[in-house]
Amino acid sequence: MTDQKLDTIISFCKRRGFVFQSAQIYGGLQGFYDYGPLGVELKNNLKKAWWKSMVYDRHDIEGLDSSIISHPIALKHSGHEATFIDPLVDCKSCKKRFREDAVVEKKCPFCGSTSITESRPFNLMMKTHLGPVNDDSHAYLRPETAQNIFMNFKQVLDSSNQKIPFGIAQIGKAFRNEITPRPFIFRVREFEQMEMEYFVLPEEDEKWHYYWVEKRMKWWLDQGLNAKNLVQSPQAKEDLAHYSKATVDILYRFPHGLEELEGIANRTDYDLGCHTKYQSDMEITAKINNHKQSTMRLAVQNVDSKKWFVPFVIEPSAGVDRGVFALITDAYREDITDSGSKRIVLSLKPHLSPFKVAVVPLLKNNGQLMNYSQKILGIIKHCGWGRVRLEDTGNVGKSYRRHDEIGTPVCITIDHDSIEGDQINTVTIRDRDTMKQQRVHENQIVKFLKENYFA
Ligand code: ATP
Repeated sequence: MTDQKLDTIISFCKRRGFVFQSAQIYGGLQGFYDYGPLGVELKNNLKKAWWKSMVYDRHDIEGLDSSIISHPIALKHSGHEATFIDPLVDCKSCKKRFREDAVVEKKCPFCGSTSITESRPFNLMMKTHLGPVNDDSHAYLRPETAQNIFMNFKQVLDSSNQKIPFGIAQIGKAFRNEITPRPFIFRVREFEQMEMEYFVLPEEDEKWHYYWVEKRMKWWLDQGLNAKNLVQSPQAKEDLAHYSKATVDILYRFPHGLEELEGIANRTDYDLGCHTKYQSDMEITAKINNHKQSTMRLAVQNVDSKKWFVPFVIEPSAGVDRGVFALITDAYREDITDSGSKRIVLSLKPHLSPFKVAVVPLLKNNGQLMNYSQKILGIIKHCGWGRVRLEDTGNVGKSYRRHDEIGTPVCITIDHDSIEGDQINTVTIRDRDTMKQQRVHENQIVKFLKENYFA
């Protein structure tokens, strides 16, 4: 894949209302994007699929929705104030500022000059102020969703009847003042994460780490990503974050290269250890910042020995925006039809498609056709699968093309035979991927769609 593919995806996303540059009318705000009418559906569908697999389909994971503004003391003890940094350099020639890892063969990636400053640490957290006085009452916009999960560990455990091993899942915004936010929605300054912290017995950490790597890989395949574009990549020991004993990244072949889509880390007892009361009584194995500011013991009592221990944490952490980018990249293709014309198809899995069904009357000014189309639309809306659309342009071919391009898995065409003659009350159901058409009686539409698309 190439830069050309990246440009194609970016302009497709804009043209079809998936993703817009934020504040475009004022020249755009770098590192911020808005999701348009189709993008918000795809994004919500992806989050729904994650939540279903993490929370609804299991008995051992609870959900959480915690605050975005984060307590500065929490981010001090978690290590973020001291270590959530990227090395920053400046090019003395073109004055551009970028991450040190963007330097290619000691040259500026923008102008090629070798006149580059020494790197210096840059903290990626975004600061804000609380209350009317702009003194030192600062707080942070959370740089990840995880910290409030750790801080709520005991309250969730006590209120939910769970036992180790169990997890807490959360989807939400995170903010990082990225030095070079690009390309497109891959690296942005405001993004969404789908994170789950799974609390396990310390001696079972490796077993559960392996389990979650396999589970998460399979989940991305179930979302339709092509296996040849996904790579499991264990991080080298020297690259591990300070809290991690082992991390496996799931990389995706984005248009600009093979890059991280999700990371699955074995965070040991670092996180609960950082935030717990009575740290010194707990035999914490990780190197933590010792303090006496916490008011809650984030630990579990062994039933037999009655000893308190701090569970280890396995964390699958995925980016929603990178997920959307990967799904669009993977599903987008340009076919040449038998008649020699170009057909753009977004072959998303039906549960992710922004529109589930388009109902297409043959003519737009025919009252009978329109009435019957409205009736069919009502039947499908009732199923609650998601957005459905009446495509009343009167041009069936164009409607098919438009819906192929935005990933609608099925079009239902209403023609004269639907309203009179031998085939009355039947419709034509057309499949996006195969373009195959089938005549189906209205009583069978829901069953047919359920069996073939929305099981
Ligand atoms: P990278 O090395 O690419 O900066 P990271 O290792 O810092 O990512 P994590 O802190 O592990 O990322 O965050 C978990 C997930 O959140 C990542 O796998 C990614 O999908 C997503 N993510 C992280 N930073 C960004 C960002 N700036 N923009 C979009 N998504 C992000």
